[in-house]
Amino acid sequence: MKNKQKVLHARVSEELYDKISQKAKKHRVTISNFVRSLIEDYSELSGDVFEIIDDKIREHLKKKKEEVLAYHPIILGKNTACYICDKKLIKGENANIAFFEKSSRKIVVCDDCRKNDRN
Ligand SMILES: [Zn+2]
Repeated sequence: MKNKQKVLHARVSEELYDKISQKAKKHRVTISNFVRSLIEDYSELSGDVFEIIDDKIREHLKKKKEEVLAYHPIILGKNTACYICDKKLIKGENANIAFFEKSSRKIVVCDDCRKNDRN
């Protein structure tokens, strides 16, 4: 074990504490070990998981399973990339925000992808 370990304090509700405590007991580990392994798992996995989710959303959009309710033309305030084709978009360029029918999510879409959506 490394010598240089830090102690992490986190305030949680009594309910959450009880939940964590019960899960730790169930797994026969200390609360500290249980929470540590959760954080380790999350830190290692979350990046990959979010990338996978991102890809899924992109695929979803390409297959048009999620309906875009409206596009709103915008002028970019920062460099970004088209959410669908990944084309680099530069600050000051025209782009569009897509609003979805069934979610409050918004994405930035280039003009080409917006035009393609009309077909
Ligand atoms: Zn695009």
